[in-house]
Amino acid sequence: MITRDETAEAIGNRYRYTRIIDTAGHVVRVRIERHFYDSYSFAHVEVINDVKSWTLLLDEPTRDWWDASPPPRKDIDAAAVLAPLADRLLRRAAAILAPPTTTTAVSPRVLDAVAALLSTVYGFDGERRVDPDEITWATAHGGGLRVFEHADGAVTFTKAHRDDCPFVTSTGTRACDDECYYVVPTRLDGPLGS
Ligand SMILES: [Zn+2]
Repeated sequence: MITRDETAEAIGNRYRYTRIIDTAGHVVRVRIERHFYDSYSFAHVEVINDVKSWTLLLDEPTRDWWDASPPPRKDIDAAAVLAPLADRLLRRAAAILAPPTTTTAVSPRVLDAVAALLSTVYGFDGERRVDPDEITWATAHGGGLRVFEHADGAVTFTKAHRDDCPFVTSTGTRACDDECYYVVPTRLDGPLGS
């Protein structure tokens, strides 16, 4: 969460607080206005949509925060009063906008094939913990992981082919073109990268 802009002010019968942040590739704005009257008060979180206008993402009912906030005064510190609520709403927004950690349903056959892969490398009772830096390194080097379930029951796991390789574009039903290569990203060359 990176803060881009933050404003707070107290004017007449209200005070307000606005913060704009970046989260998970989205530009998000929280706007909280504490009016003398409950019905004029609001706490919104909005996100910039594809046509660069703000779209409502979250709307916190005033019953959850209005009573707990002091009535407007000219000398009130609007940021101090409203920032904690803004923090809470932005955490909720970030959770909503975060990319899902699992987007792919894995078939039982693919899981069985992972078990077989583990067994062929580490034995039938094999166990292997994969650390985060190993995952980072693996996704930054070689081709993207492809999983092909073949008609005969076999499963191929590969990182060996570039995206436009015939083997990949035919989901594994055609042979590689024999010139398959992939560009090895160098940006993450670290201790594991040699
Ligand atoms: Zn290939």
